[in-house]
Amino acid sequence: MRVLVVEDEPRLAANIARGLRENAGYAVDTAADGEQGLFLAQSADAGGYDLIVLDLMLPRLDGRELLRRLRQGGGRSPVLVLSARDEKESVVELLNLGADDYVAKPFDLGELLARAKALIRRGKGHPSPVLRTGDLEVHTVERSVRRAGREVGLTPMEYRVLEYLAHRPGAVVSKTELLEHLYDFNWEKFSNVIEVYISGLRRKLDEPFADKLIHTLRGQGYVLRPGGSQA
Ligand code: CA
Repeated sequence: MRVLVVEDEPRLAANIARGLRENAGYAVDTAADGEQGLFLAQSADAGGYDLIVLDLMLPRLDGRELLRRLRQGGGRSPVLVLSARDEKESVVELLNLGADDYVAKPFDLGELLARAKALIRRGKGHPSPVLRTGDLEVHTVERSVRRAGREVGLTPMEYRVLEYLAHRPGAVVSKTELLEHLYDFNWEKFSNVIEVYISGLRRKLDEPFADKLIHTLRGQGYVLRPGGSQA
């Protein structure tokens, strides 16, 4: 998952980014003003950011205007607004502008992370924290994986690749899309490692079973779906 944090207070932005990276395993880009935030939000490829965390009081372009322009331009990423306590009366206005949720400052980082994860799940059409494909279960709160009821130990990066695929079962996900959603900027230099994670996932999830879940479409990408014997 790839998240954009638009927040002009450097320490707060760094805390949020660290929480999202360490606690949730997301890739995080940050923008310190509204113009840069809007630029990044609109230039993200492959469906845009999986979530945008948006402060309201921002230099150059305020958060409300950023949100209005993003939605006007067709940007569909879920948006979690950080509002100051005295801005609470404008929550209805924010929701009308296309915000999906908000937390009031000062907020508990744990609450922000929980709301961020819930928004990402809902944005992908999965209100439940457990993603299921065939006999595979991905538990996004504990970040654990079971196949046929048995726990499968994955490395953090293998888990992140699998969670992304599990949010879109049956869809072809290109290597570029995976890279963009798993890494911060400079993802190009990681392009060779995706195969390593995929082969690790195959070994742990698919090898012991006749029914294969992870499929490669040559030149196109990867698909997670049950009902296949493809190597
Ligand atoms: Ca601010």
